[in-house]
Amino acid sequence: MAASFSASVNLYVDRAAELLELEEDVRVLLAKPYRQVDVQVPIRTDDGSVLAFRGYRVQHNGARGPFKGGLRFHPEADLDEVGGLAALMTWKSALLDLPFGGAKGGITLDPAMLSPRELEAATRSFTHAISGVIGPNADILAPDVNTDARVMGWVMDAYSSRAGWSPAVATGKPLELGGIRGRVEATGRGVVAVTTATLAALGRALAGQRLVIQGFGNVGRHVARFAAEQGAVVIGVSDVSGGRHDPAGIDVPALLADLPSGRLLKEASAGDAVTNAELIALDCDVLIPAALENAIDATNVSQVRARLVVEAANHPVSTEADAALSAGGVVVVPDILANAGGVTGSYFEWTANLTETSWSEDRFNRELLDTLGRAFADVWRCHVDRRVDLRTAAYMLGLGRVAEAVRLRGLA
Ligand code: NAD
Repeated sequence: MAASFSASVNLYVDRAAELLELEEDVRVLLAKPYRQVDVQVPIRTDDGSVLAFRGYRVQHNGARGPFKGGLRFHPEADLDEVGGLAALMTWKSALLDLPFGGAKGGITLDPAMLSPRELEAATRSFTHAISGVIGPNADILAPDVNTDARVMGWVMDAYSSRAGWSPAVATGKPLELGGIRGRVEATGRGVVAVTTATLAALGRALAGQRLVIQGFGNVGRHVARFAAEQGAVVIGVSDVSGGRHDPAGIDVPALLADLPSGRLLKEASAGDAVTNAELIALDCDVLIPAALENAIDATNVSQVRARLVVEAANHPVSTEADAALSAGGVVVVPDILANAGGVTGSYFEWTANLTETSWSEDRFNRELLDTLGRAFADVWRCHVDRRVDLRTAAYMLGLGRVAEAVRLRGLA
């Protein structure tokens, strides 16, 4: 059986802690979350009955700043998953040197089964339930799987109705409510920038590389768009309904125009239909899992033909699969670096909200690429100097910074 999500993340933390020779006191503090909130999320449905979901907010570590992390809606969201994702946020924020700790939230529901009014009611109910532990300087939410700007607007409004005008309690908001131009695309833009940097370090260019992307939501569709704009050949894409494959390259702008957000790839006409299982096994240069965790695990890792795997999703490669890929010489760019454009963009939005300033999209994109470029250079240097894989290097940098903040604050 695969390890729990939190245990998997801790495996990488332990590996980095050994190499850093981290003292036991600090290790003990970082192995478990600071706070776990598990609440009932009751709503009145459109037919007048009552439904009660479970909602979770896990705050992993706040030594470097307020907790920060997304909120997802998913029928299988649970405390272990949310806890593992919260820990990833701690290491990601620290690796990017952002002044945030790590958190994550989830409500166990299937958004496809709810009306927009019911979804809004669940969001407001959850926000009220956790309002005592979130806030602009306490814990800041953001979009994740099945949540978007509209949901962040509801979070902001529900929180503000009690605390007063507080746009900085959530990022990824609509522009009219303190959102920032560039944030929607930031994760995908960052994935492509980090992929380009990795390829360059390996002596290759993105243009002409054959890419396969699993997940065609906020992250995946922007990865496809930016990669195609830069000359990559996107030969396969998929979502929860299945995928499309064209060895000659999918016309990404046409596909995006044909498939507005909310419609599934099974309705698209590009290339040939493939299942998600077939997609992972396609002959390609770069495989970019951008859907859910453990998409590549012990059962399918032997079918991966790409020589570079870029983790656009959080924890899309299980620890067993990661070991197998490494053993086979496949380079894996870890999630805490690859998809960090999201939290970096959120940091810009939060800063703009707190200082009541506005940023141009040019400035947003320039600073995003600068920040990611610095983090990539740090990771690559550590990878070369310490002769460790990219994931271990990324964890060593993130862990080292958090551990130092813990020591300086006197928490250990
Ligand atoms: P999303 O809800 O917008 O999209 C998820 C996509 O995955 C959809 O296309 C969905 O159909 C697909 N999918 C779901 N289950 C699948 C399955 N079993 N097989 C294949 N495809 C499946 O979510 P998102 O915001 O794009 O997030 C995707 C991943 O990226 C998640 O791991 C998330 O935590 C991570 N992430 C998101 C952001 C962000 O800014 N949104 C930032 C960092 C990391």
